[in-house]
Amino acid sequence: MTCEKVAIIGAGPTGIASAVQLKRYGLEPFLFESDQAGGLVRNAWKIENYPGFPDGISGIELAGIMQKQLRKAGVLPIFQRVKKLTYHHDSEQFILQTDINNYRAGAVIVAAGTKAIRPNFVDRLPERINKRILSEVYPLLSIAEKRIIIIGAGDVGLDYTVNLAHANDVIVINRSECSQALPLLKNLADKSGRISIMSNTEVRDVVETSGGRLEMSLEREGELYQIEADYIVAAIGREPADDFIDDEFRRYENDLIECGRLYYAGDISNGIYRQVGIAVGDGLMAAMRVFRKLKERKQCI
Ligand SMILES: Cc1cc2nc3c(=O)[nH]c(=O)nc-3n(C[C@H](O)[C@H](O)[C@H](O)COP(=O)(O)OP(=O)(O)OC[C@H]3O[C@@H](n4cnc5c(N)ncnc54)[C@H](O)[C@@H]3O)c2cc1C
Repeated sequence: MTCEKVAIIGAGPTGIASAVQLKRYGLEPFLFESDQAGGLVRNAWKIENYPGFPDGISGIELAGIMQKQLRKAGVLPIFQRVKKLTYHHDSEQFILQTDINNYRAGAVIVAAGTKAIRPNFVDRLPERINKRILSEVYPLLSIAEKRIIIIGAGDVGLDYTVNLAHANDVIVINRSECSQALPLLKNLADKSGRISIMSNTEVRDVVETSGGRLEMSLEREGELYQIEADYIVAAIGREPADDFIDDEFRRYENDLIECGRLYYAGDISNGIYRQVGIAVGDGLMAAMRVFRKLKERKQCI
């Protein structure tokens, strides 16, 4: 089928679902990914609420299955970060700018998910220290017998903790008295002999020791403490990953959404409702809407 090009930004569960559905219609979408296909799900310790896996499935395994499905559907992601998204009214085309090329598309599904909020103190740290302060855990899943500090005791912080504590000692820093995480995660953290949680504690600073480890200064009830670690993982919140959209684009994006050329789908647009099942459903719906609009505009023949 000859069709106007559709571009999808992000190959997490949302973008993968969109791409597979568009392929089923006979389209050849561009699927852009700045990292690896699978998205945020690669960090999840165990996903128990996505239908089809009665015993639950680790995030890394689920991402692997999704990558396989992409390959089987014949979708080859373009592993480039979209740096800027613009729309040219005269040609009715979007331009997706990457470091390597400019790509044109008649419709765009923005499925870029969320990005981590980084703690303030990282800005003034040298790069060699910053490299060991992460916001996701999948790069650490193969390490063992290290000490890791997790900042944040919400769902994501405790999920990261349980994921890493099978082979490492993990200290969780919690600003408040109680964790807001799922009871299931709290129970697992309580039972593990390798996890300690410091409540009512604020991070003050991080420096490098002469031995090359990270030393974190903490304050609890007016007292200062220092603890050493090999890695720090910050889980203090996430925000939409929309750096490639500027104010000018924002001025006319509602018109593009209304005329069915632009779609936001998945975590980037779902506020606190960030779950794989929702993301996949959103991705499918965006693809179905795109195709319907292309047919209405007689852009598919
Ligand atoms: C620790 C943890 C545990 C979780 N546990 C569960 C669970 O048990 N059950 C559940 O249902 N959900 C869980 N989730 C949530 C789930 O992972 C997300 O809801 C889901 O991954 C969202 O999919 P998405 O495709 O919208 O976004 P993402 O998965 O974030 O994917 C977005 C993709 O876009 C890419 N991207 C971003 N910007 C650009 C750009 N400019 N150019 C190109 N590519 C770009 C990113 O690299 C990423 O691959 C968990 C999340 C975390 C962090």
